[in-house]
Amino acid sequence: MMYVQSRHMRIQAQRHLATLLLCAFGTFVLPQAGSHAAGSQTQAMWKAGLAKVVITPEHSMWMAGYAARTKPSEGKVHDLHAKALALEACPEPGRGDAQGTRLVIVTADLIGFPREFRDQMEKDVSRRFELRPQGLLLNASHTHCGPELRTWRATQTFDLPPEQIELSKQYSEELRGKLTELVGRAIEDLAPAQLSYMHARAGFAMNRRLETERGYTIAPNADGPVDHAVPVLRVDDPNGQLRALLFGYACHNTTLDFYQFCGDYAGFAQQYLEEAHPGVAAMFMSGCGGDQNPSPRRTLEWAKQHGRALANGVEAALLAQPRPLRGPLRLALEEVTLELAEPPNREQLSQQAQSADKYERRHAEDMLRELKEKGRICTTYPYLVQVAQFGDDLTVIGLAGEVVVDYSLRLKAELAGPPVWVAGYCNDVFGYVPSERVLQEGGYEARGAILYYGTTATPFAPSVENLIVRKVHELVELGNRPSSTPEGLVARAHNSGFAQAHDSYNGMGTGSDGKIYYALSSESFEVGAQMFCYDPVADKIEHLGDITEACGEKDSRTIVQGKVHVNFVERDGRLYFATHVGYYSIIEGMEKIGIPPQGYKPYPGGHFLAFDMATRKFEDLAKAPHGEGILSMTMDTRRGRLYGLTWPTGYFIRYDLAAKELKDLGPISRQGENGKGENYRTLCRSLVVDPGDGSCYFTTGDGDILRYRYDRDCIEAVPGDDMRKDYFGVYDPTSPGHMGYNWRQTIWYEPEKVVYGVHGNSGYLFRFDPQTPQVEVLDRMTSLPSKRSGMFDQFSYGYLGFALGQDGRTIHYLTGGPVYVEGKRVTGKTKTAMGESKGIENLHLVTYDIKAGKYTDHGPIFFQNGQRPSYVNSIAVGKDGTVYTLSRITEEGHTRADLISIRKIDN
Ligand SMILES: [Zn+2]
Repeated sequence: MMYVQSRHMRIQAQRHLATLLLCAFGTFVLPQAGSHAAGSQTQAMWKAGLAKVVITPEHSMWMAGYAARTKPSEGKVHDLHAKALALEACPEPGRGDAQGTRLVIVTADLIGFPREFRDQMEKDVSRRFELRPQGLLLNASHTHCGPELRTWRATQTFDLPPEQIELSKQYSEELRGKLTELVGRAIEDLAPAQLSYMHARAGFAMNRRLETERGYTIAPNADGPVDHAVPVLRVDDPNGQLRALLFGYACHNTTLDFYQFCGDYAGFAQQYLEEAHPGVAAMFMSGCGGDQNPSPRRTLEWAKQHGRALANGVEAALLAQPRPLRGPLRLALEEVTLELAEPPNREQLSQQAQSADKYERRHAEDMLRELKEKGRICTTYPYLVQVAQFGDDLTVIGLAGEVVVDYSLRLKAELAGPPVWVAGYCNDVFGYVPSERVLQEGGYEARGAILYYGTTATPFAPSVENLIVRKVHELVELGNRPSSTPEGLVARAHNSGFAQAHDSYNGMGTGSDGKIYYALSSESFEVGAQMFCYDPVADKIEHLGDITEACGEKDSRTIVQGKVHVNFVERDGRLYFATHVGYYSIIEGMEKIGIPPQGYKPYPGGHFLAFDMATRKFEDLAKAPHGEGILSMTMDTRRGRLYGLTWPTGYFIRYDLAAKELKDLGPISRQGENGKGENYRTLCRSLVVDPGDGSCYFTTGDGDILRYRYDRDCIEAVPGDDMRKDYFGVYDPTSPGHMGYNWRQTIWYEPEKVVYGVHGNSGYLFRFDPQTPQVEVLDRMTSLPSKRSGMFDQFSYGYLGFALGQDGRTIHYLTGGPVYVEGKRVTGKTKTAMGESKGIENLHLVTYDIKAGKYTDHGPIFFQNGQRPSYVNSIAVGKDGTVYTLSRITEEGHTRADLISIRKIDN
């Protein structure tokens, strides 16, 4: 009997396809066909194929959705459909692929696809059509007037008559075969096409979580968050003739609760669009409507009206400026393990198993059974996340489950770049996916629905939102890696015309004018550091001046200002920085200020300088005491204060712009790098200001955190926490060649009013909250190979190239990776007298998105000729995301330090 039915349906489906094909070759031309300006470019880029099948059960069946149903279906309003859109991006030139990347989107007028259904179908389409798992996206409209195909639900939770359970199983089985065929037919139908994206809005979705005295209940809440966007993917043939419309909306498809099969508003919207555009396939893809209901609801008339409103939304989108989609098509499908709340104990469950509420009772019985059979109740859920990126033009995210609207709103806000389309109800509709907010508020979507789904024992843990969002970011970033440089990032060397330039530390900054300011160091006693500026727009380097001259010491025959060892800080159009000595002598294995050669006077001391970006003039502000260089500096831009640490002894100095006053607060860590034995301490390379109270924080080699207090003009130790963490390693702070427990580089992160920093040798990222005060170790910021090897960085001091990107939330870090020669890891010296980089490097760019908590190693960096940048200890991120640093460059047998740029590779 079932066989007859399925055969009948197949014939019906074939008729439908025939109609579709016939109409696709008709002569209907859209009025805006000419607006596809990029048509000639996109024409060869895509192929699209379509197929459609009726999936209405032939006879009465139990209906899905609404636990309160008491009887099977009674007839139909219209047919239920499944439709498939196959897309193929033509092979990228030069990749040698015979076939482009394929994505088949299947939409259906059904409650949802269970995970077992998807898994089996994934295998079927892989075997039969070589479609990869990430190339299959299933989306259900979530109509509550369709058949029950979730056999687990039919058998476990509801008292369905046995023949209904059997029907449900058979329907599900046949549906799988039918959808597999559908995918095959859509692939067969692939033909050249143009794709474009546009969107409009529709207003009938209303938030359905209303706060009452009894907590959150399901009732219209006009003040709750909504997502009224109607995203549309438009498929045209190469002549601009419309073939298909894939559109989305974030709203429960639950206007109706009667006993006739019906696609509800989504079914009507598709019907109206197909009537208005004969021969065109209209496909509905559910959005994040887990906590959204159509309003008003409950009558067929309202379902039609909402369908009309959504169809009108699609028509409105078609009038908007289309965004032609270009390739490549990048697909990703991954599982993230979500955490569930702790389950109740056996006693609580036994008690719950006595409940008068049958759903509560059964849920407790299920858990007790699981406890008995497996010894424990599962507290995780394997959650599917799918991402399809259409070049730089559109990102489609497919999330599993009944996703609440917060996910759509958050992802659209967080993912920079092309338009973002977030679909829910994809691939596995196992229950609700609350956000952290919804979970905290409670109610049906947070926990109530679990009793009816029975797929998870307990509600999600609050980590659910961040785990899903992080996975999406990860997959999007993965797709953003340029396929042309799979082996790493390409660096470009610039020539500043300063052949003597030696290894440079810090001495960089991006000006508010978008230009990159930097100083190149020297180790000569007579030719000092030079300052430059690179204009990315004009691609030109300008020599701004000689630093020694800027300090007024040009003809003084003193040892020159050889370095700028600090970063530039901008305030009122001026860049503030400090100068340092570059000419050294090694005395008793230790680096000291160079002994002046015949006819030269000793180094006079480092200066605080200002450079005016408009007038191109320097101003000499003050000179450090005791003839020491300025090793570290930062600025309190609010209060007009410069703070510095001198080298080698480590005097803490401050300079007040208004009072033009320099004050020396004395040595902060024994005798610093001037000391011997017990009195030796490596000095901190990074000072950081809390703009709130004007405190300036830094560390000692012993791991103490010190605070300069603006209010009392003195230095005190920060009590309660320090930098002596096991993860950072074990150091003898009295021995040179490492930074000890000092932090290496830091930044102030205003949104959280905390310091983010990196411990150099271990490469651990940490967060220091001066209010608590507390140091929290976050993640290893080293390269992925270093993380995997479990070893510290190649450079025993660690790396200084650590800065926030232009988005104000992504830390960019230039760090090393292990070096292998003939398969063996090369270990450098365990320590160095000068704290210099060990030369041989495996430079990587690593980013850490603070908001998303997301670490990314963007890969190793190479020059075009295959050489590697080395001695890298600076960073500036340009306005377009290009990363700049100073590196050794060898050209025609000569090595110098100079500016290099690394093209932006992420959003
Ligand atoms: Zn639902």
